[in-house]
Amino acid sequence: GTGGQTGVYYVVGQSICRLVNRNTAETNLKCTAPSTGGSVANINAIKAGDMDMGVAQSDAQFNAYNGLGDFEGEPFEKLRSVFSVHPEPFTVVARADSGIETFADLKGKRVNIGNPGSGQYSTMQVVMEALGWTMSDFALASELKPAEQSAALGDNKVDAIIYTVGHPNGSIQEATSTVDARLIPVTGPEIDALVEANPYYAKATIPGGMYAGNDSAVETFGVKATFVTSADVPDEVVYEVVKAVFDNFDRFKGLHPAFANLMEEDMITQGLSAPLHPGAEKYYQERGWLPAS
Ligand code: GLU
Repeated sequence: GTGGQTGVYYVVGQSICRLVNRNTAETNLKCTAPSTGGSVANINAIKAGDMDMGVAQSDAQFNAYNGLGDFEGEPFEKLRSVFSVHPEPFTVVARADSGIETFADLKGKRVNIGNPGSGQYSTMQVVMEALGWTMSDFALASELKPAEQSAALGDNKVDAIIYTVGHPNGSIQEATSTVDARLIPVTGPEIDALVEANPYYAKATIPGGMYAGNDSAVETFGVKATFVTSADVPDEVVYEVVKAVFDNFDRFKGLHPAFANLMEEDMITQGLSAPLHPGAEKYYQERGWLPAS
């Protein structure tokens, strides 16, 4: 399970599959990574047995395993972590002609809050709750998918779009190249409190110079993209997937600019709240990254 085709999850899935499928003759594993609705949809598909693995935000992983948030009262106890990937800042982009300069300025505007099932939709609910906002605080709260929202911004159907996503990515590139648009900071005491209270959130900076018309760095907060599976997926399968990625790590990092700064030691520790899948653990022990059990 991945995400929209203009996001980074799609490239995570395609990249993993490309490496896994180089070994199909020996492993008998065939990997496909279709576009999906995002984090929450992926975890639900794994829980239902419709998918074996998927990409999910670290907040979604935490909530699913513990039965909180979108998964209130229904902990997915068989959820297993595999590794984390790139950081995902909570990203707000507004048309320059909208007058939006801060997150508080979104009030009364037309805002795409994301498709239900996506990570951004869930994280936006958390931020709105922290601010005491409801949907009726917006002139319009649309639920377009990532692949549709940049065009909607360009066509002046919305004033701002929201995406929890790695940078740089095609979606924000599309948004900022079709219309004069700005990345908006997401800061303030409510955000500080969220970061303070939740282990899966951290302060984040989107560097300047990645997108047209956005030369300065922008402060926000964010999560990590993580790769997850179920305890029901056999150890050999997870082992082969992890091996395909980390035996070819330089090649993997070259497949998307958002992967450029990935480091193995961070990927097997940060953003993981569900237990590691034993198939992944075995590979990490073989590499000497984890003590032998
Ligand atoms: N973070 C988004 C989600 O959980 C997806 C981002 C992407 O596709 O790169 O739905």
